[in-house]
Amino acid sequence: MTSTLSLGLPMPVPEPDLPSQVRIYEVGPRDGLQAEPTAVPVEVKAELVRRLVAAGLTAVELTSFVNARRVPQLADARQLVGLVDLGSGVRHPVLVPNARGLEDALAAGVREVAVFGSVTESFSQANLGASRADVAAAQAAVTEEALAAGVAVRGYLSMVFGDPWEGPVPVAEVVAAATALAETGVGSISLGDTIGVATPGHVRAVVRALVDAGIPVERLALHAHDTYGQALTNVHAALLEGVTEFDASAGGVGGCPFALSATGNLATEDLVWMLTGLGIDTGVDLSALVATSTWLAGHLGRPTVSRVATALAPHLTQPDSPQARTET
Ligand code: MG
Repeated sequence: MTSTLSLGLPMPVPEPDLPSQVRIYEVGPRDGLQAEPTAVPVEVKAELVRRLVAAGLTAVELTSFVNARRVPQLADARQLVGLVDLGSGVRHPVLVPNARGLEDALAAGVREVAVFGSVTESFSQANLGASRADVAAAQAAVTEEALAAGVAVRGYLSMVFGDPWEGPVPVAEVVAAATALAETGVGSISLGDTIGVATPGHVRAVVRALVDAGIPVERLALHAHDTYGQALTNVHAALLEGVTEFDASAGGVGGCPFALSATGNLATEDLVWMLTGLGIDTGVDLSALVATSTWLAGHLGRPTVSRVATALAPHLTQPDSPQARTET
């Protein structure tokens, strides 16, 4: 029996013109744990994935087939994939930076990959070690090969709103990068607020510009960071524009190890709470998710940064606890 909340969920009060369903794309095992100062044992990662799936998440990004010297936290990528049930119907994409990564991912039996590039030149050089153009070309080749192998591809764009070296990012540059990415045949395009500087009007302007440029809103996802406390309001802004896919990390773990000041993935619990209050179906069991983040925090040796998990965790009751016995 799973834990239950002794406090209720928010009252669902739907707003007109918002989507009735959204997809949550869970990035904790990859985007979260890659930022940890020490490597988390692969068995703990596998258990995290199992718990996230049990909580109702239907897309859980596993890891990245990157150079282990660059991201030692993910050196166990192949081993982790081997420990996860890839045939459960849940999407388990892995990040692949290049042809070598794709080759390794395909050999491991992965059915979906994610490719990534940067809107800005500075971040591309600093994070990916190559120009935007070279990264985009390599990304297109990887996508073509993956699609030919029958593997789905998701596309990430970093630095969509602001860049630590270049400052605010012109919307026209986002349109150019996203349009080029869309033409390679990727499915969703995840718009990364890598340093968390986006604000709601900016989010709406970017989404509108991309839709005006011919990218269907159904293909857009938002990867919000809560660095400046704007993640949820940015999600709401994207919802108002019809976006239905949102990246989040259980317990708000992680950010980006290469970007300056890039703390603060949006916590999945906080996202689920707001969406539930908006009457939007996520399919996620919030109590099971909070229990998972609490468990993960124990392994990481520090409390969760999720406001919702922090608020609800003390009210999680075990089946044999006094509080639980009063519930009928
Ligand atoms: Mg992130």
